[in-house]
Amino acid sequence: MFNASSTDLTQLKGVGPRVAEKLSRLNIHCVEDILFHFPFRYEDRTRIIPIGKLRVGDHAVIQGTVELSEIKFGRRRMLLTQVSDGTGMISLRFFHFNAQQKAALTRGVKIQCYGEVRKGARQLEMIHPEYKYSTEHEQLADVEEMLTPIYPTTEGLHQLTLRQLSEQALILLKDNKLKLNELLPTEILEKNKLPELIPSIEYIHRPPPDAPVYDLQEHKHIMQERFAIEELLAHTSSLRLLRNKNRDQAAHALNNSTQLEPDMLDSLPFELTAAQQRVIKEVKHDLQQAVPMQRLVQGDVGSGKTMIAVFAALQAVESGYQVAIMAPTEILAEQHYKNMLVWFERLNINLAWLTGKLKTRPRREALAAIADHDAQVIVGTHALFQEEVLFAKLGLVVIDEQHRFGVHQRLALREKGKQQGFYPHQLIMTATPIPRTLAMTVYADLDVSIIDELPPGRKPVETVVIPDSRRDEIVQRVVKASEQGRQIYWVCSLIEESEVLQCQAAEDTANLLAEALPDVRIGLVHGRLKPEQKDQVMSHFKQHELDLIVATTVIEVGVDVPNASLMIIENAERFGLAQLHQLRGRVGRGSQESACVLMYHGNLSQNARSRLAVMRETNDGFVISQKDLELRGAGEVLGTKQTGEMQMIIADIFKHQHLLPIVNRWTDTLIAEHPQQTQLLIQRWVGDKQQFASV
Ligand code: ADP
Ligand code: MG
Repeated sequence: MFNASSTDLTQLKGVGPRVAEKLSRLNIHCVEDILFHFPFRYEDRTRIIPIGKLRVGDHAVIQGTVELSEIKFGRRRMLLTQVSDGTGMISLRFFHFNAQQKAALTRGVKIQCYGEVRKGARQLEMIHPEYKYSTEHEQLADVEEMLTPIYPTTEGLHQLTLRQLSEQALILLKDNKLKLNELLPTEILEKNKLPELIPSIEYIHRPPPDAPVYDLQEHKHIMQERFAIEELLAHTSSLRLLRNKNRDQAAHALNNSTQLEPDMLDSLPFELTAAQQRVIKEVKHDLQQAVPMQRLVQGDVGSGKTMIAVFAALQAVESGYQVAIMAPTEILAEQHYKNMLVWFERLNINLAWLTGKLKTRPRREALAAIADHDAQVIVGTHALFQEEVLFAKLGLVVIDEQHRFGVHQRLALREKGKQQGFYPHQLIMTATPIPRTLAMTVYADLDVSIIDELPPGRKPVETVVIPDSRRDEIVQRVVKASEQGRQIYWVCSLIEESEVLQCQAAEDTANLLAEALPDVRIGLVHGRLKPEQKDQVMSHFKQHELDLIVATTVIEVGVDVPNASLMIIENAERFGLAQLHQLRGRVGRGSQESACVLMYHGNLSQNARSRLAVMRETNDGFVISQKDLELRGAGEVLGTKQTGEMQMIIADIFKHQHLLPIVNRWTDTLIAEHPQQTQLLIQRWVGDKQQFASV
């Protein structure tokens, strides 16, 4: 008996160097990999479907008689074949065909086809179906006994090859010639009533004819869910191991602040919310430990995350350490700097400012201040972590708007902050709230705090959903708002992914509005502007030298213009809810009533209608992200960047949301009680793709 993970592919028939090379492109290196290369969909060729019962979109086997075959000369030359079976008629279209084919498909011939059913001009059709034909009916009668698995493949590697390889591997498995290790502990299998490894593998590769195709297609069959759990556990445990490893590292323990903090509390013009107090307490506790804090603070736009950073900074400063506060863009860094100045100057704390934009002299001065500890708190962009920046005594790093950061970047940054074997504490703040179970899964390497409360007196942004046919009314609203001295955002988007077209659309809108509204000062921000140019337009807007900003979605992240009170979003139906929420969060920051107009185009689907209704009904980011997850998918909630990092084979944090509680519940048990299996699971599912644990 061979171990499947060490059995070379060349043991299988049909694998020579060329095929092996192609398989390696699919990350298939051994026989075990073949068994874990799962079909991504299935075709049902087990039954013949009467033509009269076909629906558009079905993939189906049909069988009938050719009624007519003719070559048509339209825009493209094609062979058009009509087939009927007594229940209905369907056309087959072939754009590529030869004389032999044409000759074979004549009237009276029996034909069996497999293909996708589409809506043709006059009747249903199949384009380039697979087919076999015969002059005798019986020969066609046999259909497949099982659902046909379709595997992800690569150029030059045929489905049939993959099917034959999995067939051989399955036979070896059945004949007990191959050993495949069950890596899920019995306890997890039993408590969650999960099927065993080998039957699940067999089922997924060769589901029986009565298998529920829909569940299989959706990767929601229990046999698949078993592996989804395996894979998710591999990811969470690799992250959790990373966290545990972090706990073996050294950091400077920072004492509680006894002077600065009370002074600050005295001078605050408001009471901290209960949620802020709770999170500050959690952070203060972490900072007192001699291991580096790795804490993520999730809080909706406007929940007062800055205060958390401020109180953490006070503790570091009073303990004699420096604090680096990093924002994703120049303008956000500047905004932070100005806010921080207000809080820190009265406590005689020295602030410095460092971004890539800084001119030579101020830059040199800033670097000197950082190096000789003249600067106690340093605010900036990622320029803070360039080589020539030498901190005198870095104790705490605050990263704001974390949703642009992934686990690798977090780690790299922490490495850069390392001094004489001591790591800085890390406080990460994100305004993209996600449901707790999801946070536990994707942020398993972090401790998570949640600010689930907004400061009192905040007025919710009134949200309306309006078809773009009523654009004129909306333009009138803009006029009124600007006459009242309010400022306005107008966000454009297009179906096209193309950046160029997006920018074009924004430009067109800006021009049209400028024509219609000669008294309104209009600025334009889009992705093709250089960061400096973007920042410049935004700061004009901030200083109220502009009344209206037309933008693509580049304005998404935390720019604070309290006087802006009207947000208009075109084609709102195309955005994810989380993104709409972020955009809407740009208004409602001042004392006046704010509004958000969600414009949509054409007829809304049921799903789009529900999603926009959610926006109208609530301003709570956590509720919105939960709904977004239900209605759209995890990619939308997290942003592609983060989901892109958790690249998974069978699991999908959206489709398998219902499994996350199981995964979260078992992660710690797995690594504590089954360390060896954990390592093997990580190897099996995470592999070299993410070297989390080795960073
Ligand atoms: P965000 O979580 O979006 O970063 P900020 O920290 O920028 O939010 O806070 C938003 C606004 O609310 C700021 O003007 C801040 O001064 C104010 N703020 C913060 N905490 C409180 C509070 N407890 N009570 C009243 N206002 C607060
Ligand atoms: Mg903020």
